[in-house]
Amino acid sequence: MYPIPFNRSVFMGQEQRYMAEAVAYGQISGDGPFTKKCHAFLESHLGVSKALLTTSCTHALEMAALLLDIKPGDEVIVPSFTFVSTANAFVLRGAKPVFIDIRRDTLNLDESQLERRITPRTRAIVVVHYAGVGCEMDTILPIAARHGVAVVEDNAHGLFGRYHGKHLGTFGCLATQSFHETKNVTCGEGGALLINEPCFIERAEIIREKGTNRSRFFQGQIDKYSWVDIGSSYLPSDLLAAFLFGQLETWERIQSARRRIWDTYRAGLEYWAQHHNVRLATVHPHCEQSYHMFYMIFPSPAQRQAMIDALKAKGILSVFHYLPLHLSDMGRRFGGKAGDCPVTETTSDRIVRLPFYNTLSEQDQSAVIAAITGLK
Ligand SMILES: *Cc1c(COP(=O)(O)O)cnc(C)c1O
Repeated sequence: MYPIPFNRSVFMGQEQRYMAEAVAYGQISGDGPFTKKCHAFLESHLGVSKALLTTSCTHALEMAALLLDIKPGDEVIVPSFTFVSTANAFVLRGAKPVFIDIRRDTLNLDESQLERRITPRTRAIVVVHYAGVGCEMDTILPIAARHGVAVVEDNAHGLFGRYHGKHLGTFGCLATQSFHETKNVTCGEGGALLINEPCFIERAEIIREKGTNRSRFFQGQIDKYSWVDIGSSYLPSDLLAAFLFGQLETWERIQSARRRIWDTYRAGLEYWAQHHNVRLATVHPHCEQSYHMFYMIFPSPAQRQAMIDALKAKGILSVFHYLPLHLSDMGRRFGGKAGDCPVTETTSDRIVRLPFYNTLSEQDQSAVIAAITGLK
C-alpha cells in the first residue's frame, strides 16, 4: 500500500455498533429498521418524495432505466466524461447512448450542445454533477421539458451539493446516489434511488423487490404478494444500511473535513498552478459543491505523467479518469470516434486527481502539496 493512498475507507465511529444492533434485532435482510432510518434521512434531508437504498448506484441507474421503460431503439444522452454505469444501465435495456461533450470550466455536460442532439428517439438525458458541482439545470430542464424527455441525475459525486440553493438529486424525475467506498458517504458498496415524481414510487418498490408487490404486503396494504412486473433484487442487507446510517448521521463532520481538505489543496496549489498553466476546478457562485474530489488539469499529457511519477516516487498515489466513453470498445460499437467530444478527449488526457479522504492528515496533505509545488 502507498504511504499516502488515493482513497482510504474511513470509519466515523458508530458503524460497528449499529451493525451489531441490526444483528441483535434479528433481521438483516433488506428494508429493516436501519434501511428505514437511511430512507428517512435522505428524504428529509434532501427533500425528495422517496429514497430507496439499492445495492449500488449502478443498480439505481438500472432501476431508472426500467422505470422509464427504456427500450431497444431509444436514445439516451449521456456525457462521454463519466463512469461506465451512467451509460451501461441504459444500454442494458437496448438503448443507444448518445455521447455529448463537456464544458471546459466545470467538466459537466455542455448544455449548449443538448438541443441539437435530441431526436424523436431521445427518451432521457442523464446528467452527471461532476465532482459534485451542479450541471446547468436551469437550462437543461426546460430543454428536456420542451421535448418531453426525462432527466435523470447521476449524483454519485454530489450528495449534499446544491445548485441555486437546492440539493443536487432533486432536479430530475429520478436521481441516483453511490455509497461506494470511494464516495463521500459509504457502506463499501451501496447506492440509492431518489424519486422526485411520486408517480414512480409504487413501481420502483416493485422493481426493487424482484417484480413483486412484497413491499405493499409488508406495509399491510395487501394480504399476499405475487409477481406483478419485471424487476430484480436491488435492495441491500440491513447490515449495510446500519453501516451507512452510522455515516449518514455524521454527514456534517464528513463534509466539514472534506471541505477543509479541499480548501487546503486550493490554498496550497493555487499560486503554483497559475504559474504553471495548470487549471484547478471552477465552482461558480450559484453552485455549492460536495467536496468530492480535488483535480488538476495540466497543459499536456507529458506534464501530467511527470507529476504522477514525481508523486509516486514519494509514495503518493494520484489517479486519472475518466477515459472518454465514446472512445471505449463499447462506445465505438455505438459509432463513437476520435474528435466527437474534443473537450472530453483533451481533458481526459490531462487531468489528475489527488489523494482525498476524510482522514487525510495535515502532515500527509502538506507532503502532497510540497511534492507538487517542488516540481519545476
Ligand atoms: C461511482 C460512480 C458510479 C457507480 O457507483 P456504484 O455505486 O459503484 O455503482 C456511477 N456514476 C458515477 C458518476 C460514479 O462516480
